[in-house]
Amino acid sequence: MAEPKLTVADDMVVTLDYTLTLDSGEVADTTQGRAPLTFLAGYGQLLPAFEEAVMGLGVGDEARFTLSPEDGYGVYDEEAVEEVPIDQFPPGQEIYPGMAVGVQDASGHIYEAYIADISDDVVTLDFNHPLAGEALNFEVKVRAIRPATAEELAHGHVHDEEHHHD
Ligand code: ZN
Repeated sequence: MAEPKLTVADDMVVTLDYTLTLDSGEVADTTQGRAPLTFLAGYGQLLPAFEEAVMGLGVGDEARFTLSPEDGYGVYDEEAVEEVPIDQFPPGQEIYPGMAVGVQDASGHIYEAYIADISDDVVTLDFNHPLAGEALNFEVKVRAIRPATAEELAHGHVHDEEHHHD
């Protein structure tokens, strides 16, 4: 009897290779040369539009699709940029453009920002995601699919060599 063909669906553990290329041609992220990505489908671990695009694929299937900035990491917000005096950083702390920093507001909430620019006395922080405003061009190839275990579903994440509990 033939095994039923598994496809990407909610509650499946999916392993895939992907390459993310920006419209500029720059490869922003890829699993090439490292371990493929494994995730539990339907639990919001990845961009919802990404999960949507791979639903129904089977093992060995390849797909190419483009997510708009709205479906990716958001539209670039010109207002989400702030200049702070450089002396707000502890003396001796190494800072450089592209570095991620956590910024705490008055109510204690921590926002992630990236250093966009550094001058003699001012640091420009960008609160946009580094890929905000970018269309995301994905190439994916599905490597493996299996039903999640009851424990994985209860925890909402995959248990594998990298993550397991005693
Ligand atoms: Zn767990």
